[in-house]
Amino acid sequence: MSFIERGARTVFLSELLSGMALTFRYMFRPKVTVNYPYEKGPLSPRFRGEHALRRYPNGEERCIACKLCEAICPAQAITIEAEPRSDGSRRTTRYDIDMLKCIYCGFCQEACPVDAIVEGPNFEFATETREELMYDKDKLLANGDRWEPQIAARLEADAPYR
Ligand code: SF4
Ligand code: SF4
Repeated sequence: MSFIERGARTVFLSELLSGMALTFRYMFRPKVTVNYPYEKGPLSPRFRGEHALRRYPNGEERCIACKLCEAICPAQAITIEAEPRSDGSRRTTRYDIDMLKCIYCGFCQEACPVDAIVEGPNFEFATETREELMYDKDKLLANGDRWEPQIAARLEADAPYR
């Protein structure tokens, strides 16, 4: 750029004016930012968030303690203990997930034959201590009870592509 061009730009403030023009152009366009946490962006039905254990509509646990999720977990984050109930059904007595080990691969959900363990839509589960991320069965069932409508809707939306 010649000395005269540089001088002309400085005198006529052309760079400042082109910057202002850009600002005014975007001022009247729809905003692309969201006011988190009051606004949230859309989530895919396949989003893999916090884990939950689901129940049937009658309140019975879905999990049949087959341990497929425990076997397939590449991070070995799941620990299950089970024993038969008096009615002959098999249920877990312990279902723990170490969320610090979990890599959110979704294999546990894929392996489950009864859609019991799922990764739900919740991504806001940061904690202040590591201990709080050691999930037990009660915590996972409570997550399932809390998120069931959203989880069921996500599974239904994704079903045609499976
Ligand atoms: S999402 Fe993957 S790593 Fe996490 S518990 Fe399930 S199988 Fe294991
Ligand atoms: S959550 Fe599913 S895969 Fe895991 S033990 Fe229960 S029934 Fe089996």
